[in-house]
Amino acid sequence: MTENCLFCGIVSGAVPSKLVYEDDQVYAFHDINPGAPTHVLIIPREHIATLNDLEERHEPLVGRIFSVAKKIAADLGLDEVGYRTVFNTNAGGGQTVYHIHLHLLAGRSLKWPPG
Ligand code: AMP
Ligand code: ZN
Repeated sequence: MTENCLFCGIVSGAVPSKLVYEDDQVYAFHDINPGAPTHVLIIPREHIATLNDLEERHEPLVGRIFSVAKKIAADLGLDEVGYRTVFNTNAGGGQTVYHIHLHLLAGRSLKWPPG
């Protein structure tokens, strides 16, 4: 837990969230300002500020995050129609919360490249 981190606050329960999934390593919740009909954020319980801060020991954790995305997509019936998963990194990548999070977006026609 890192003080002054919004998503550490969500993991700890100090900040409310709409839970989608949790396990011992990962926590997933609905985005407060959804960019699509389904917009879920999947985060590690451990505070990692950006993808630039990943270490080799995090490799299984990152794999778990993607496995959870796959499970959530299947549970919500999105696996066949399709969905997008994205990490934004630093200001140029559109990152605004500095605790890594995988966006899972679906439910509308998603254009490429994103804006
Ligand atoms: P990013 O811009 O990639 O850092 O994404 C941060 C995301 O966190 C945005 O989509 C925000 O809408 C979302 N967000 C910010 N505050 C909250 C919150 N309290 N609960 C849920 N999602 C949030
Ligand atoms: Zn954090």
